[in-house]
Amino acid sequence: MLAETMDGGGRACSFCVKPEAEVAKLVTGPGVNICTECVDLAASIVAAYRPGPTELRMPMWGELSDAEMLERLPRVAAVADQVEADLRMWVTELRRRGVTWARIGQALGITRQSAWERFSGEE
Ligand SMILES: [Zn+2]
Repeated sequence: MLAETMDGGGRACSFCVKPEAEVAKLVTGPGVNICTECVDLAASIVAAYRPGPTELRMPMWGELSDAEMLERLPRVAAVADQVEADLRMWVTELRRRGVTWARIGQALGITRQSAWERFSGEE
């Protein structure tokens, strides 16, 4: 479910974390975005290296020092925040449509109570 972005709603590339205003085009997916630069980079990586299915694991922690992992950690957290924000929008829309917390919880494999506690914004 990819789409070209229609506005500058505070989005950023999930890979390089550049804001939408600083990239040529941002393609949005469910909770993640990618800029044209990162698409080109990813395409060149894929073109140069076509691993077998078991080699597709990311990230390759064995090749990263502690400092490199710590440097990347904020980017991982930023992507997690984007995905969480997107998930909240989906749940908000489902609630607007009148879908019950029980059905939302069931879809997520959690209880009605857990869904409500996570997404309702109420105490
Ligand atoms: Zn990017």
